[in-house]
Amino acid sequence: MQLKTILNHVQKFKSFVYGTVRWVERAGGPVLEVEVVERANGRALCSGCGRPAPGYDRLRVRRFEFVPLWGIKVFLVYAPRRVRCPTCGVRVERLPWARGKHRLTDAYAWFLARWARRLSWKEVATVFRASWDSVFRSVEMAVEWGRAHQDLSGIESIGIDEISRRRGHCYLTLVYQIDAHCKRLLWVGKDRKIKTLLGFFRWLGSERSAGLKYVCSDMWKPYLKVIAKKASQAIHVLDRFHIMAHFSKALDEVRAGEARALKQNGYEPVLSKSRWLLLKRPQNLTEKQEVRLAELLQYNLKSIRAYLLKEEFQLFWSYISPYWAGRFLDAWCTRTMRSKIDPMKRVARMLRNHRTLLLNWFRAKGQLSSGVVEGFNAKAKLTSRKSFGFRTFHGAEIALYHALGALPEPESTHRFC
Ligand SMILES: [Zn+2]
Repeated sequence: MQLKTILNHVQKFKSFVYGTVRWVERAGGPVLEVEVVERANGRALCSGCGRPAPGYDRLRVRRFEFVPLWGIKVFLVYAPRRVRCPTCGVRVERLPWARGKHRLTDAYAWFLARWARRLSWKEVATVFRASWDSVFRSVEMAVEWGRAHQDLSGIESIGIDEISRRRGHCYLTLVYQIDAHCKRLLWVGKDRKIKTLLGFFRWLGSERSAGLKYVCSDMWKPYLKVIAKKASQAIHVLDRFHIMAHFSKALDEVRAGEARALKQNGYEPVLSKSRWLLLKRPQNLTEKQEVRLAELLQYNLKSIRAYLLKEEFQLFWSYISPYWAGRFLDAWCTRTMRSKIDPMKRVARMLRNHRTLLLNWFRAKGQLSSGVVEGFNAKAKLTSRKSFGFRTFHGAEIALYHALGALPEPESTHRFC
């Protein structure tokens, strides 16, 4: 069997045929060069409008990188024709295997982009001896195609989240679809301002925004304002993941302050290395941690009282009726306001101020799963680490859409990976 025959099986073109295949020794190792020739009766298409046009001249031979075979790089070799198009003027012809000025064939770009979902971009570049830039361009191409072809109908529930990049110096706003039948990243925006989220609703369009039934977010004021304005018909829920994150932050503050005070006053440093004991849920502790926590609970420390208040609040989420959940919330807030622990009092005040939105959790019960936004948040952070720490907004955006967007891909006769 000839290589040409295999190529015709995996990727056949209407107006081009494969010619001679050559083994060429190059500095970086051998490569296969596959000549491509236009069919005798095939007319060149204008790359501007896609219509056939009379020939003008022929450019120099160009090499387009194709999917490697047995670890050998493969190039399609072709000298593109130029056409004189009545509408677009003199243009290079449209090639069915590559777009625009790209040096990579579409097949190879999709191949790299698919691998970039499983490995880090750097690993993909190393494994296939491609440049980092080729991998990035391929992923960018896949994301652009996917975003242009995705189906946005039937979006009912969304979750709004933020992550920071460059060590907390910049923020990104992420909007997820969190419906039972479809969970994916819908949109990424720079910063976490009013303007940012308005950008999302502009992108979604007023008709689709009106179709939203549930919106899930943190208590971040700019978000609350925009949601009230742009999706007023939806039930706005403050999600459990974000609320509990505020508790962890407050608890951390109490513990750090108290540990410092104990040390300064010459007391036994009972709180050292206790951070995770107090932040983790009790059921997630190891046996050794459980013993230490039990010891720690005997001290009358602010950190311990704050910890107990936090753990007690977890009960809130197990209520069914919004009425009784509300009663519980009020009682908890009253007790916490008397606790003389400032960071916890701040949490209580914040919860009181958002009582209605908090109780919406029970109105939406069964419709939203609290773990979805949390799961996406963890994946987004992992993606940040795996790509390249998000040095630019565009890089972050492309990496996130690629990893979490559940984007469609074109149908092809053969899947190379
Ligand atoms: Zn044209």
